[in-house]
Amino acid sequence: MSSLPVLVLNSGSSSIKFSVYEAGIGAPQKLFEGAVDGIGTDLGKFWIKDDGKKLVDETPALPTRAVAFKMVADALNSGRFPRPQAIGHRIGCGGPNVQDNQRITPQLIDEIESHAALAPLHTPIAVYIMREALKLFPDIPNFAVLDTYFHRTIPEVASTMPIPQEYAAMGVRRYGYHGISYESIVYQLQPEVPEKLIVAHLGNGASISAIRNGRCINTSMGLTPTGGLISGSRTGDIDPGVVLFILKKIAETTPDALQAADKLETLLNKKSGLLGVSGLSNDMRALREAIQSGNPRARLAVDKFTWTIARWIGSFVAELNGLDMLVFTGGIGENDIDSRAEICAGLSALGIMVDPRRNNVRGLATISAPESRVSVRVVPPAEDLMIVNHVLRLSERDSVEDEPAMILSDLH
Ligand code: ADP
Repeated sequence: MSSLPVLVLNSGSSSIKFSVYEAGIGAPQKLFEGAVDGIGTDLGKFWIKDDGKKLVDETPALPTRAVAFKMVADALNSGRFPRPQAIGHRIGCGGPNVQDNQRITPQLIDEIESHAALAPLHTPIAVYIMREALKLFPDIPNFAVLDTYFHRTIPEVASTMPIPQEYAAMGVRRYGYHGISYESIVYQLQPEVPEKLIVAHLGNGASISAIRNGRCINTSMGLTPTGGLISGSRTGDIDPGVVLFILKKIAETTPDALQAADKLETLLNKKSGLLGVSGLSNDMRALREAIQSGNPRARLAVDKFTWTIARWIGSFVAELNGLDMLVFTGGIGENDIDSRAEICAGLSALGIMVDPRRNNVRGLATISAPESRVSVRVVPPAEDLMIVNHVLRLSERDSVEDEPAMILSDLH
């Protein structure tokens, strides 16, 4: 295959991040990356950099997502940069009928949109960007690369929610997220992928997965990223009675049911977790500083975080019936030495022992003690590279088969 510049798009609620890789010949290499940030404000940022060198550095008004994405497309179509020949979109969840990574068609976007209610904070944004990309880059193939793809192997007993069947039939189940990060860890461990592996992706959003022979068997996030571990501003798993209590309190001042549900959604996703418990910040660095100056709420929030993760590790060791390797990744997993030490402190009975001197690192390292039965490692994720790999695989398949990709429902 000849040279193929691939654009990777990762859209969030207030930003669009992107990178362009040179792919097709040898291992893909990043050419440049950029972002538009501050969507919905007059104080936006638009930058592109190459190896740390800023090629674009602007502070435009970004009143809408349309303005922001047009800015990215105009720059990439301007001739100043290698023009992408394929686009990989990072998509959270495609709904129950879209489990495979595949070429984006108008029909696929409609199918994903039809299940937007399952992931209302993420799917509408992804749908918007996919439609715009088909318009602004009409001549090149676009591919959906799903965060749920890695988790498609989890057994029914783990994916089924304990609710009436009618809701399960609407697509309510455990999908799991951060899948591209998990895949990228397994990819980097090759060719020596351990049989029994746990990976903890600890960033602003946090999750953990149990992986057997490279295939996911369970993961902590559920229908949405709100489930599972406590994280920066999300509750994680919580007694449904708490959710109902809060909903009834909100309803006292917001009688409209949908408005009350929206407020509840914001509270569970944006105001809870480390931020809610500490009353201070969702950011681990800020919490560590507050702990240093004796803030008891910051201490409690971080203890709740590390305690929850240790418990999940225990339950996944039971599910895997043993453990060969534990990997930490994500901003906290890679950089917060104290979190790694605190999570592992009480796990020696499971064969997990961290060496304090080896743990005193940021980035790729083995941090377990020589006598630890389980290898404990830090591995940064390589999500964009993973998306490029999927785009290359799918492009080759497309050019060989020259037929449109199918959604699962087409097969029934
Ligand atoms: P996102 O989920 O937004 O991609 P990241 O993976 O970038 O998040 O992780 C962000 C988290 O990592 C924040 O809580 C931040 O405080 C934490 N973090 C980053 N660097 C450090 C560090 N040097 N020490 C402690 N925590 C850090």
